[in-house]
Amino acid sequence: MQVIDGKKVAEEVLQEVAQEINALKSQGITPGLAVVLVGEDPASQVYVNSKARKCAELGMHSEKIVLSADTSQEELLKVIEQLNNNPAIHGILVQSPPPKHIDEAAVVLTIDPAKDVDGFHPENVAKLVLEDETGFVPCTPLGCMRLLKSAGIDTCGANAVVIGRSMIVGKPMAHLLMAKDANATVTVAHSRTKNLADLCKGADIIVAAIGRPNFVTADFVKDGAVVVDVGINRVEDATAPRGYRIVGDVDYANVAPKCKAITPVPGGVGPMTIALLMANTVKACKQQNNIR
Ligand code: NDP
Repeated sequence: MQVIDGKKVAEEVLQEVAQEINALKSQGITPGLAVVLVGEDPASQVYVNSKARKCAELGMHSEKIVLSADTSQEELLKVIEQLNNNPAIHGILVQSPPPKHIDEAAVVLTIDPAKDVDGFHPENVAKLVLEDETGFVPCTPLGCMRLLKSAGIDTCGANAVVIGRSMIVGKPMAHLLMAKDANATVTVAHSRTKNLADLCKGADIIVAAIGRPNFVTADFVKDGAVVVDVGINRVEDATAPRGYRIVGDVDYANVAPKCKAITPVPGGVGPMTIALLMANTVKACKQQNNIR
């Protein structure tokens, strides 16, 4: 059984990104990422700070824009439009979830698709479906694909089951797996799927993106399967320093022994997301400067 080391693969991605940044800087171009946070959600603050820190480590320009929780939709859209027109900014993301009075769809539509490094704009969703490589793909599924590749997993002809159909993980993951460079046969499961365990039992690859701790148990998994666990769930644990610990969607202790390869939580998919965000920002910067 191979434990796929997401920290190590993320480091490899970041090294490639650092090389590209150095090459851009030698041409007088510094990639820039703007992260917009509305409100004071503590988890979002942690995410936003870690993105800004990673930009600084890589020598990228970053702008962190923190708006109060009562910022109006109109004000937020104005900030995004300013970033769309700012030549020092190549990538824009608005940290999710925004306060309830903000219409997320309108926010996504306002971001210039060329700067939409989260890959949520309909133009980028269409490019993913069309397999047009100039588009931006959400960072987490992109990270999952890179993990499979780095572990030497052959997806061609494999039966893959993706559990979850969100726009951020499940759907883009399914498209990446079925694309012509991956060639998997993909089934997408969700909360209304019947006989999920039996369905998964036929899978060579299972991607779990559900948001329920330890949901995928050993009876879902055939011997020799590959399991990618996207889940990040807090479970109470009085013995842990913070009173909780992070677990995935997969019952790792019982599933791992059956697998050919599996991603752990933490240390699997998690570190890949930020690395691919940096990669997407560099890609955006190159495209905006007509550099191939
Ligand atoms: P969503 O809540 O948007 O989607 C969850 C999906 O799981 C839905 O499609 C839902 O089905 C499906 N689902 C829920 N219950 C069941 C069930 N009993 N059986 C089958 N399917 C079910 O979550 P996200 O996609 O945003 O995130 C999924 C997980 O991945 C979360 O733990 C999240 O924290 C984590 N995550 C991790 C990231 C990382 O960087 N590693 C990044 C993003 C997310 P339906 O559509 O029918 O409701």
